[in-house]
Amino acid sequence: MPQEHTGDLLHENGAKVKVHPCKWDNCTMHVGVEHRHVAKHLQQRHGVNISATNEETHRIPCLWVDCFDFQMKPGNLPRHVLSTHLEERWICLTCSELFSREDAFRRHTQEKPACQYARPAVSYGDGVLEIDTQCFDGGRSIDQNVICIP
Ligand SMILES: [Zn+2]
Ligand SMILES: [Zn+2]
Ligand SMILES: [Zn+2]
Repeated sequence: MPQEHTGDLLHENGAKVKVHPCKWDNCTMHVGVEHRHVAKHLQQRHGVNISATNEETHRIPCLWVDCFDFQMKPGNLPRHVLSTHLEERWICLTCSELFSREDAFRRHTQEKPACQYARPAVSYGDGVLEIDTQCFDGGRSIDQNVICIP
């Protein structure tokens, strides 16, 4: 009779997760490289109201190290951090063209018939680390100082 596995799903899949050191205002954590990870981290740790995108919203500065005097609506910050500081790039696997945003890649697949069914690859800047998922209860991996966000 086969043994039932009830362990950590992430571990069973041998999942790796990509993270980047957060350089927002002397933050010492790492943050996942997907938009939802960055958005959640900015909101929970740095008090950024990421749902604020309407016209009346005050612009706030990006506090990422070396990002001076760059002001934008809070809701646009996760996207800005991804493309500017994590250097997220979308690559069309059909024609190798590079895009800085997912929506630009999506538009490309709509506009260029040859790439209609193209799949993307996503790359990041040098600061991104790939680690094994070792999320303890509460989402913290102590030895790697990583916050894993489910
Ligand atoms: Zn942070
Ligand atoms: Zn910035
Ligand atoms: Zn293409």
